[in-house]
Amino acid sequence: MTDFRLPPELVPVDGRFGCGPSKIRPEQLDYLAAHAHLLGTSHRQKPVRDIVGRVRAGLADLFRLTDGYEVILGNGGSTAFWDAAAFSLIEQRSAHLTFGEFGQKFVNAASAPWLTAPAVVHGEPGTVSAFVGDEEADVFAYPHNETSTGAMTAVRRQGRAGSLTVVDGTSAAGGVDIDVRETDVYYFAPQKNFASDGGLWFALMSPAAIERIERVAASDRYIPEFLSLSVALDNSRLDQTLNTPAIATLLLLDAQIQWIRDSGGLAWAHARTKDSSDRIYEWAEARPNASPFVSNPEHRSQIVATIDFDESVDASRVSTMLRANGIVDIDPYRKLGRNQLRIATFTAIEPSDVSRLLGAIDAAIAAL
Ligand SMILES: *Cc1c(COP(=O)(O)O)cnc(C)c1O
Repeated sequence: MTDFRLPPELVPVDGRFGCGPSKIRPEQLDYLAAHAHLLGTSHRQKPVRDIVGRVRAGLADLFRLTDGYEVILGNGGSTAFWDAAAFSLIEQRSAHLTFGEFGQKFVNAASAPWLTAPAVVHGEPGTVSAFVGDEEADVFAYPHNETSTGAMTAVRRQGRAGSLTVVDGTSAAGGVDIDVRETDVYYFAPQKNFASDGGLWFALMSPAAIERIERVAASDRYIPEFLSLSVALDNSRLDQTLNTPAIATLLLLDAQIQWIRDSGGLAWAHARTKDSSDRIYEWAEARPNASPFVSNPEHRSQIVATIDFDESVDASRVSTMLRANGIVDIDPYRKLGRNQLRIATFTAIEPSDVSRLLGAIDAAIAAL
């Protein structure tokens, strides 16, 4: 099985198709090397704070922030942001859409003893759910893209005036164009579509979200310093983080933001990821033994494509055969347990490499 060899024309130039950590472009590593003198220097001094400032300004420009929206960051990735939101953003009760692992993880974080139990609208994996409209909540939360299943939803404001719309953009941000004003908080980590490394979270926040954070911080709720969004806000405005950030992560992210901006911004990235994912869905629909896992075409993610196979194809064997040829991380989300391949079509990934990958999958299936 592992002596399977792909013909050279089917080997992608870069074989990384994982959903996070994800492909980092060589040019980003060149940028990192060119700034190597910043590694190992103080994050309280101007040179590193300038990088944080560039990233914040770059994100503000990329997402066309207006109307007092701000770019806030902190340590710990999106998972830490969920706990921070439970302490600092949810006043009494949150409402959530869940249709996969990541949406559910925020529910778990929001099921905190000082809050009323969250309202949850559950959807089966491979679908997306929608709010019913009678939820009593001060935060309405959902994933933009459910990375575990490859289902994507529209970014739209939810709830009544005074409630906050809080959207997990972790895998979508930087690859899908959105109107940030449809959210109060659009948060993400940089190791997915932004092709950087893990460990940080970023959030685009509306004045209403900032006002909420300040109000909760002024209440008598106990908030650990590390999970305080008010502390993150104060530090971010100074281009700092509470504790030491990964400087390499910031540099790789800075390079990727610049590249997307120089290439044509979010609209360009959006068209590119759409092109890549369309190639995969069209390929799957033309195969008798394959089909897109997300049956409704409107909910198929343009950045994480999940393809189911029938019993004639052992998808995990295909993945192993391709791994031996340098194509990595196309296995399905581990808890989904399906006969499936999951392929990231993030902005960093060349559409031509996606086409090569599809040819490689065909070749592996033929050799099973
Ligand atoms: C990966 C991912 C997360 C978790 O991000 P971490 O930075 O690893 O905590 C959260 N939400 C979504 C949608 C993701 O894809």
